[in-house]
Amino acid sequence: TPPAFYPARSFPGGARIAVLTVEPVGVLDYLAPEGGVAQGQLVLVPLGPRRVLGLVMGEGAGDFDLAKLRPVARVLDAEPFDARFLEFLTRAADYTLTPLPLMLRMATRAPDLDQPPAARRAIVPGGDPPSRMTEARERVLQVLADHGGAGFAPSELAQLAGVGTAVVKGLVAAGTLAEVEAPRDLPYPRLDPSRPGKPLDADQRAAADALRDAVRTGGYATTLLRGVTGSGKTEVYLEAVAECLARGRQALVLLPEIALSAEFIDRVEARFGARPGEWHSGITRTERRRLWHMAGRGDVGLVVGARSALFLPFRDLGLIVVDEEHDSSYKQEDVVYYSARDMAVLRASINGAQVVLASATPSLESWVNAGTGKYRRLDLRSRYGTAELPDMAAIDLRAEEMPSGRWISPTLAASVESRLAKGEQSLLFLNRRGYAPVMLCRACGEQIACHQCDARMVEHRFQNRLICHQCGESRPIPLACPSCKVEGKLAPIGPGVERIAEEVAARFPDAKATVLSSDLFHSARALKETIADIANGDTQIIIGTQIVAKGHNFPRLTLVGVIDADLGLQGADLRAAERSFQLMRQVAGRAGRQGGAAPGVAMLQTHQPDHPVIRAILGGEDEAFWNAEAAGRQATGMPPFGRLAGIILSHPDLGIVTGFARHLAAHAEPLEQAGAQLWGPAPAPIARIRGRHRVRMLIHAPRQAPIQAAIADWLAPHKPPTNLRLSVDIDPQSFL
Ligand code: ADP
Ligand code: ZN
Repeated sequence: TPPAFYPARSFPGGARIAVLTVEPVGVLDYLAPEGGVAQGQLVLVPLGPRRVLGLVMGEGAGDFDLAKLRPVARVLDAEPFDARFLEFLTRAADYTLTPLPLMLRMATRAPDLDQPPAARRAIVPGGDPPSRMTEARERVLQVLADHGGAGFAPSELAQLAGVGTAVVKGLVAAGTLAEVEAPRDLPYPRLDPSRPGKPLDADQRAAADALRDAVRTGGYATTLLRGVTGSGKTEVYLEAVAECLARGRQALVLLPEIALSAEFIDRVEARFGARPGEWHSGITRTERRRLWHMAGRGDVGLVVGARSALFLPFRDLGLIVVDEEHDSSYKQEDVVYYSARDMAVLRASINGAQVVLASATPSLESWVNAGTGKYRRLDLRSRYGTAELPDMAAIDLRAEEMPSGRWISPTLAASVESRLAKGEQSLLFLNRRGYAPVMLCRACGEQIACHQCDARMVEHRFQNRLICHQCGESRPIPLACPSCKVEGKLAPIGPGVERIAEEVAARFPDAKATVLSSDLFHSARALKETIADIANGDTQIIIGTQIVAKGHNFPRLTLVGVIDADLGLQGADLRAAERSFQLMRQVAGRAGRQGGAAPGVAMLQTHQPDHPVIRAILGGEDEAFWNAEAAGRQATGMPPFGRLAGIILSHPDLGIVTGFARHLAAHAEPLEQAGAQLWGPAPAPIARIRGRHRVRMLIHAPRQAPIQAAIADWLAPHKPPTNLRLSVDIDPQSFL
């Protein structure tokens, strides 16, 4: 059955319009313009003295006086949202307990949406080759070629290419580029799905055929595509993308990290002969607006993006791939709390689309869903070609000579030394930004803390500052203790990546080392360039935080050393073991991807070599680990066998926030009636952020309990004090 792109009904009288202001107003009735408006249309409506964005939800409530309604000011020049997209947004709002207008705003993030379509100046190819070619000019021409002549404004084009506007102007003067009155948006170049992919091996072939069949048959299903790093999951799901494009439907690939998108986009271009649309924080306003409109018009076949790409108004989405589906960046914990993985499944089930969840280390949720048959599971059992999985070994720190101020054990150092001798790369992994997590005064014992958070200041020596990782506040590193005023007694305690880099510089003075930590890069471009340099073999020792764990392909890397394998094992978090396991598996998977002469080794420095997580990693017993984790969660009724919701209340005054939390807890009958239990209130794990005291409650319920409705009933009658913020996190990923 062909999907209903346009709702049949339009509303000539009054229409119900969701008003999408910054603070959600709700759904109001307005007078439709001559000829009516259709459901899903974007409009401008008057609200008080302002004109604000609105979305037509349906026919007006009926018993109003038409003469008293304020009229819709303008119908916007955008494709109306189709009925399925509206259903998705409505159900996503219900599931996450988000006010509908706030959820609708996630779907209308196109710059200048409310502006009348005005002619713009735009740069397009002109024709004449320049008489003089420079590196800067080449970059400009490359950007334009990469984006299919998107027609950027001069300043935007210059920004994308990382050059001054004068370079663009120079190319216009030379006749190589032309400045024209541009149509607002241009379609994306078509990808050619009939081009052959790489010849697949037997496992890959079987998985690719199964996915192609599923896409061909149409309808909804979710598949967990599991395979170790380097097994060819990307090659396989690109086959599903090809099938989807061949059927004239759109495909979306979600990636956890924009820095990964560069490599991925090159692969798409090699496979399909053109570049996909890109949606993430690193794109320009022109690209953002263009992609949003083209998604709605069906004029972009494949979109690659961050989690928010899930809220693009696709005309006919047939496939959603969630790559590295276990990655915690798929969970948004700000304004709207949602899991992009779960929302992908919801959107696909409404759209009759396929979902592919790809990972070497699936989330426990997906693993359990595959076990019960809710998801299908496809396995790629080995690395592609001759590449083998790295050998895994523990370094028992209790048996190593570790003088204070040193974190690289003699055994690990010897391994690094031998890689240096062979011209191979080593990666030292420590999931901690900065130089030292604690600054201690040896005179009075004070640990320097943030003024406005319940958190210690982290020393960032490369920037010569102390930084709070909760609120971002920073100050110069002081000479004297802020508490006892004694000078020269402040000492860094424990290592961060910068301190490991210092140790590397001291112990391997001739080696070229690179630190990969998100805070050391000011733009996505700089990070991408560094990653490309590393892949080209431009560095010998990489020292990195968790950004190195995510999917990068470093062909010369043959040694991974985990500086502190015990770091994530402790802690009350339900997912501590799962997360540690995933992170260490992923980071170890960076080693030895090239195969042949350079197999990889991963070494875990640990004080507890017998810890179940460490043993599971060393023994390659992934399934045994997941099954044991699952059994533990089942026994305690924890997710995914039971349900959790987190409630965080915050207020500058501790008494007010505690008082209101106790008041709510004393009226929890709706929760009890639904079979749910309330835990708390208690101080949140980070009890104060930006001067606001934080109190947490957890709601625990059996799997089938109507938890959203119960929470809504519970909270509705209680008016929070002024300036109190309350957020509800359904299925929290961290314990906030
Ligand atoms: P994963 O996504 O599972 O980490 P990739 O799809 O990135 O794996 O594949 C790992 C590497 O092996 C890539 O460089 C990819 O191009 C290569 N590769 C995988 N399968 C094939 C194949 N069938 N033919 C040629 N190269 C392949
Ligand atoms: Zn702070």
